[in-house]
Amino acid sequence: MTSPISRPAPRARRAPGRRPAGDGGQATAALPLVIGGERRETGAVVESRDPAHPETVVGTVAAASPADVRDAFAAARAAADGWRRTPGPARGEILFRAAEIVAARAEQLATELTREEGKTLREARAEVARGVAVLRYHAGEASRRGGAVYPSASHERLLYSVREPLGVVGVITPWNFPIAIPLWKLAPALAHGNAVVFKPSEVTPLGGFRVAEALIEAGLPDGVLNVVCGDPEQIGGAVAGDRELDGLSFTGSVRVGDLLRRRAAESRVKLQLELGGKNPVIVLDDADLDLAVAETVRGALHATGQKCTATSRVLVTPGIVDAFVERLLRAAGALRVGDPLDPATAIGPLVSGAQHARFEQYLAVAAQEGHELALGGRRERADGDGWFVSPTVYLDVDPASRIGREEVFGPLVAVMPVDDLDAALAVADAVEFGLSASLFTRDVGQALRFAREVRAGMVHVNSETTGAEPQAPFGGMKASSAGYREQGDAAAEFFTHLKTVNVDPPRA
Ligand code: NAD
Repeated sequence: MTSPISRPAPRARRAPGRRPAGDGGQATAALPLVIGGERRETGAVVESRDPAHPETVVGTVAAASPADVRDAFAAARAAADGWRRTPGPARGEILFRAAEIVAARAEQLATELTREEGKTLREARAEVARGVAVLRYHAGEASRRGGAVYPSASHERLLYSVREPLGVVGVITPWNFPIAIPLWKLAPALAHGNAVVFKPSEVTPLGGFRVAEALIEAGLPDGVLNVVCGDPEQIGGAVAGDRELDGLSFTGSVRVGDLLRRRAAESRVKLQLELGGKNPVIVLDDADLDLAVAETVRGALHATGQKCTATSRVLVTPGIVDAFVERLLRAAGALRVGDPLDPATAIGPLVSGAQHARFEQYLAVAAQEGHELALGGRRERADGDGWFVSPTVYLDVDPASRIGREEVFGPLVAVMPVDDLDAALAVADAVEFGLSASLFTRDVGQALRFAREVRAGMVHVNSETTGAEPQAPFGGMKASSAGYREQGDAAAEFFTHLKTVNVDPPRA
């Protein structure tokens, strides 16, 4: 074990002046907060650092104070009524234009995303493409979402329902998908007529500021989308606790999600939470071995394992376990860890010193728990001083151990032998999470039984645990989610109220 190597997490800092940004050493102005159409510089900045070269500041954004957050909510409230009255198709037009702007800047956005988050350029391009697809889907939804007309007990009564926006919503996002996750939330919030205060993660703020910029350029009226960033507890807390808040959509850790849940219960703010996962893959004896190995490697290790839906437990039945493990180790061991801008790289760095320290703490836990380390388990030094770690695989992991049940959020796989599908389902369920799960089999009966019985919100048969299409609902069970599904037509459930209207003719 090497000792944990960490650096202070990026945090809001007073800037005496402009800070150097980019490795060219040019002074680049911080991206300003957006408050009611005003671009606000605050004199304080949040730095986004390159996890492959932690000394390099990729860019900075202005850091908000609680007073800035209050101003953002006041601006959103002032804009909410006009946006609510803007016809859905007109709102959709703006989102379609935003999709075109993001698509036109795809390469630039993907490169900056790789530099700020550390995922490979191929992964970053896919994330930007997904963001464009999400914008287009919800742009169309703005013209489609209506209510329904119901038969009434009275022949003369018109009984119908309509969907109306919540009003002012807060959007708080994590660092791992700095472009796609903000768009999953902003696009439906705006399409359904809400004004928004958006706070991207302080670890990777640039992507969120860029997509907000695209939406504003596309024609959003002033105040409809406001953007703030800063200290997670102070500014996140100010967004989550503002009195103007009608709804809050949050993606992040269970720890913060639980905090927000308690607060929302008191304030009665409508809440949507997408939280962690400890996602299992089950490989049965009759599985297509090549497919199961390739998909497990992709699900567990790509994006450096930093996806909420990443595969972290692999449950394998006796007839295939030896062959599966042998190929898994070979495939995972062949992945090139290195500079994420290099096309030959398969796995970039972890996002930050804090995540790196967390990963190393889990290696120490695994050593204490006595799991069999079959691959990795160390810091990679191949490419300079970045937060690189090697793909790590433990065998014969006890499902009740910490490595077997806690979310690591890094490229770490726990292999657990199981007797059969029944045993696998029991192990799959023996954690607090229920986000995603997948099964590899050729037996349609087993596949259907798995889909019926597994307690996970996202279920895959013969594909890995990650991946989501914008037209289908996304979310988990148990501690992984709370409130409402995201995406697809489910997004409207969270971002609107359903109003039921009874209209009778006058009696006279
Ligand atoms: P995090 O909870 O630390 O932070 C998420 C966001 O909350 C950030 O914007 C942060 O600034 C803000 N925040 C922090 N403290 C806050 C507070 N007290 N009040 C209000 N806001 C606060 O999570 P993270 O480290 O950014 O992201 C990793 C986690 O996100 C993992 O657990 C991962 O599984 C989860 N995640 C879930 C999904 C999903 O869809 N289920 C997707 C991606 C990531």
